[in-house]
Amino acid sequence: MISTYAVLSEGLEKRFGAIHALRGLDLAVERGAVCGILGPNGAGKTTAVRLLTTLLRPDAGSARVAGHDLVREPEAVRRSIAVTGQYASVDGDLTGRQNLRLFARLHRVRGPAERAAELLDRFGLTEAADRRASTYSGGMRRRLDLAASLVRRPEILFLDEPTTGLDPASRNDIWGAVRALKEEGTTVLLTTQYLEEADQLADHIALVDQGQVARTGSPSQLKAVVGTYVEAVVADPDLLVKAADVLDQLTGGEPVFDHERGSVGAVTRDTTLTLPRVVRELDAAGVPLLDASIRPPTLDDVFLRLTKERAA
Ligand code: ATP
Repeated sequence: MISTYAVLSEGLEKRFGAIHALRGLDLAVERGAVCGILGPNGAGKTTAVRLLTTLLRPDAGSARVAGHDLVREPEAVRRSIAVTGQYASVDGDLTGRQNLRLFARLHRVRGPAERAAELLDRFGLTEAADRRASTYSGGMRRRLDLAASLVRRPEILFLDEPTTGLDPASRNDIWGAVRALKEEGTTVLLTTQYLEEADQLADHIALVDQGQVARTGSPSQLKAVVGTYVEAVVADPDLLVKAADVLDQLTGGEPVFDHERGSVGAVTRDTTLTLPRVVRELDAAGVPLLDASIRPPTLDDVFLRLTKERAA
């Protein structure tokens, strides 16, 4: 039977000396899905990708990737996947086109020149195709990396922080490419520190914290865990604490300060709380406002909340 999961791991562990980087990672990624692995610095995201792509061996646990056993069939796993991100490499001395033709020949892809041209076109690199890759901008280089990893049409694509350090336009280009891959049925497993990126792209998110999956769900399922977010931007920073008291009473949630914005926010599960009431109560308490809002939580809120819960 063909598994409905492109990646299925159980209890994956990895230690680096005294550091227990992965402490039993359980992950299930459906075929054709885009799965976002989200977590703070040092959570174990890169280690998870390195294990699942056979670059490292697990100390314990098991996984099937594209239906193959990670430890017993590493070659078969490697044939089914591609990895790009922090350790992807194109040769700066070669042109974009030469790089892609080289990858195509290495992987014995039929019609290497045609495949290179097709990918250059798809990633908006046709005009720059015959320039050395070292002259490319960061965004172009990242697109070339991605194109190189797709030369042989992998079943599963692992993207390790694909847009870290890119400007918004280049980030959008990469996002477009990921969406197109999904439409073609490629499974994408993507690590990111950008919650917005996961929100934009992922069908399914695994929140990783301290080497374990702390929570999974679709972006909207994860947001529903948190509740509604109420925020007040006060005119006078000295009144922030007073505003927090009011929000505390209204929401029952723990107020969080953003001193840079001069704001205080809190989460509520009370679906009847309205913005006029928030403004009225703050006004009655003598807190002049610059702005106030009630909005659904962002994944940032979810993330902060869940990591805080775990730390507690
Ligand atoms: P980031 O978002 O910063 O890339 P991450 O979630 O990808 O973080 P990992 O890079 O997987 O986290 O690291 C997990 C833990 O394992 C960290 O404490 C890190 O310092 C440690 N670690 C990772 N690789 C090694 C290594 N080769 N040797 C020693 N420690 C390592």
